[in-house]
Amino acid sequence: MRKRLIVANWKMYIETPDTAKRFITALKRKLARMSGVEVWIAPPFTILPTLPKGSYKLGGQAVSAKEGAHTGQVSAGMLRAAGASFCIVGHSEQRAQGADAEAVRAQFASVLKQGMVGILCVGEEARKEDGSHFAQIEEEIRSACTGMQAFANKIIVAYEPIWAIGALQAMQPQELEETVIFIKKTLSQALGREGGLKIPILYGGSVEGGNAHALLASGVSGFLVGRASADINSFGEILTTCKK
Ligand code: PEP
Repeated sequence: MRKRLIVANWKMYIETPDTAKRFITALKRKLARMSGVEVWIAPPFTILPTLPKGSYKLGGQAVSAKEGAHTGQVSAGMLRAAGASFCIVGHSEQRAQGADAEAVRAQFASVLKQGMVGILCVGEEARKEDGSHFAQIEEEIRSACTGMQAFANKIIVAYEPIWAIGALQAMQPQELEETVIFIKKTLSQALGREGGLKIPILYGGSVEGGNAHALLASGVSGFLVGRASADINSFGEILTTCKK
């Protein structure tokens, strides 16, 4: 039985080590009573090394592929040394700040080469009636994943339609199901059928306790959660829905 994976992207919502530790204490209590669900947490860089080890994994929200004299940047090696075993790459909030396809590919490669899991975020700005938004999803997957067969067991794709992030409503499950099939096809073209079809696909975009059950039916392996991941009660509701 494969566990459902729920990744918490804390962004800047949780700001201090003390708040984070209180969250973790409450989370551990909840997880002790649950099975079939796995939690990964991506705290801000400043909090990552302060968190205790537990039955969850810790990771980065972003990474720089650069080395050396780059003020304010954090590399994959630094993240790993701080306790990260995965990193989110290509989040739309990073792409909006200038991370183009080439930069995202370099960041993704640097995470994978450090032996960490790379969670590649892809997603369209808007749905188009003629289906042309699929081209953006395809391009984001191809540009980051082509040639990465050797790392296929360390790749996760998070499908996050930009219009559904921090929105009033998540995507409709039926549209999500269609998109998951498309992503699987694109991954098997980029990474080969064997590796590509095994890549877990997460959904992200306004997931909460009330919609998690319906969204799970679309064939995703779990969720990447923003806003609701920073509040232990909201996050707990999602976990309760996802446990087996
Ligand atoms: C995100 O930004 O990764 C995300 C999924 O945000 P939210 O859950 O707040 O829509």
